[in-house]
Amino acid sequence: GTPKQPKNCSSLLEELVEQARQAPRGGQVADYIPALAEVDPDHVGIAVVELDGTVHTAGDAHVPFSIQSISKIFGLAMAMSRTDDTLWERVRMEPSGQAFNSVVQLEWEHGIPRNPFINAGAIVIADVLTSRYSASKTAFLQYVRYLAGKESISADHRVWESEKQHGNRNAALAYLMKSFGNIESDVPAVLDHYFFQCAVSMSCVDLAKSLAFLANKGVQPGSEERICDARSAHRINALLSTSGMYDQSGEFAFTVGLPAKSGVGGGIVAVVPDYGVICAWSPPLNRFGNPARAVSMITDFAQRLGLSVYH
Ligand code: GLN
Repeated sequence: GTPKQPKNCSSLLEELVEQARQAPRGGQVADYIPALAEVDPDHVGIAVVELDGTVHTAGDAHVPFSIQSISKIFGLAMAMSRTDDTLWERVRMEPSGQAFNSVVQLEWEHGIPRNPFINAGAIVIADVLTSRYSASKTAFLQYVRYLAGKESISADHRVWESEKQHGNRNAALAYLMKSFGNIESDVPAVLDHYFFQCAVSMSCVDLAKSLAFLANKGVQPGSEERICDARSAHRINALLSTSGMYDQSGEFAFTVGLPAKSGVGGGIVAVVPDYGVICAWSPPLNRFGNPARAVSMITDFAQRLGLSVYH
C-alpha cells in the first residue's frame, strides 16, 4: 500500500535519535580490526531521503562511517548490469540461516554461496567485478560517487589495509570456492577488491541518496538516470528482504517488513518502495552482527508510519 506521508518526519527522527541515545548500546562495536574497534560507540544518526528529493536527518546523519557489508548492494547492482542470468548459477538466492561469514554450507553446496549478501556470495560478486572491469576498485568508487552525487566519497585506507591483514576467514571462503571452480580471478585480487569496497566511508545521507533508485524501479530520482532495469531493482529488493539482515532476516521481515542491509560498521539501509530510503547508524552490534540501536530506530520508524511492504 501507499505509505502514510509523515507530516513531521524530522521531529520523529529527532525523537528516535534521542531514544536511541538513552537506550542500552545493545552490544559491542566490531573489533575484528583496530580501525573499527576505535569508533565511538555513541554515534547515532538517521536520514530519510524521499523520492522527490526531500532529505530529513537527525543526529550524526552527516558523519561518514565504514559501509562494510552495505557495499554488497552496490557490488551486486554493478555485477548484474555486466552479466546475465548465468550469474545465478554461481550464487543462489536463498537465505542462509548461518552467520554472515560462515564456511560450513560452502562445502556441502560445492562452492556455490547461498546468496550475494553473505560474505561468500559477495566474494563471488567481487570476482565478477574483478574479471569484468579493468580497474574494478576505481569503477566501484566511481559508481558510488555517481549514485550519491558526491565526488569526495572514498575508501578508508587504514580500514582497507587492516581488513587484508585480518582477513583469514574471508580468504578461506575465497580459496574454498576457488577449489570448486567458482572463482575466476586470482584470490588475492578478488579479496583486495572485496576489502576495498567494505572500507568505503559514507554517511547516512550519502547511503540513503545513493540507493534511492531501489525505491524507484531502478531510476535515480533527481537525475532521472536509469541505474538498472526495474526487474533488477525488484530482484535486489527481494534478496534484501530474505537475506539482507543475515540470520535475523526473518525477524526483520516479521517486525519491519522492508528490504534492508546492515554492515558491521553499524549502518543499516532500508528501502521503502515508491517512498524512499532510510539509513540509520549506531556502531554497537548484536549477536547477529547487526547494529542493535539502528535496528530499533528503523523498526520504530517503519511501524509508526506503517511502511511494511507486506501490508
Ligand atoms: N568486512 C566485513 C567482513 O568481511 C564485512 C562483514 C559485514 O559487514 N557484515 O567480515
